[in-house]
Amino acid sequence: MKLTLLGAPGAGKGTQAERLSALLHIPAVSTGNILRAAVKNNTPIGQQAKAYMDSGKLVPDEIIIDIVVERLLEPDCSNGYILDGMPRTVLQAEALETAGVQLDAVISLVVSDETIMKRMSGRRVCEACGSSYHMDAMPPKRQGICDLCGANLVRRQDDEPETVKARLAVYHQETEPLIQYYSERRLLKNVTAHATIEEDTREILRLIRQSE
Ligand code: AMP
Repeated sequence: MKLTLLGAPGAGKGTQAERLSALLHIPAVSTGNILRAAVKNNTPIGQQAKAYMDSGKLVPDEIIIDIVVERLLEPDCSNGYILDGMPRTVLQAEALETAGVQLDAVISLVVSDETIMKRMSGRRVCEACGSSYHMDAMPPKRQGICDLCGANLVRRQDDEPETVKARLAVYHQETEPLIQYYSERRLLKNVTAHATIEEDTREILRLIRQSE
């Protein structure tokens, strides 16, 4: 099963990708996590990406495409994967197709901008492994500590309200056209935000079973 999750920042892509990864036994490939690790390790890609990320802009397509295509060739991706945060532009979607990536389904997580702004204030991520939490909707077992690896949870720099607004604008302009793109290819499945994270996961599983 090869999936991608589309949605505004804070729509729940990372959370759902991690849950689906555990349930379907295929890796979640998060471009945001890959880039944050590159920034943290101060690699050449990290140095190029940092300013874009901090200001809420997209990292240039050519950087992202190479990283993702290389990652998908690794052995753990041979039975499928869940892309989280990729593609984010029509050009990236076309590049995936050119690289021979054929997605089975594209899940669009539909959440209003207003809900996003509220949600983002409670979001925290693990500074070591990148797992995501929410202070109300998905708190860690011990406050401020990652359940999976025990490292500290922090607020992402790009989750500050002004940057979230910029990221929403980028989403509407650059990423939303993918809804039509994948709809035309009959791959799109819409999931409107439910009351709980678990309900969203159940709905995604129901929808992807239809495309098997
Ligand atoms: P995310 O964790 O998915 O919200 O990504 C965080 C940031 O990483 C984004 O705001 C972008 O700056 C960058 N990024 C992640 N994925 C992509 C992508 N596919 N194309 C361009 N930039 C990306």
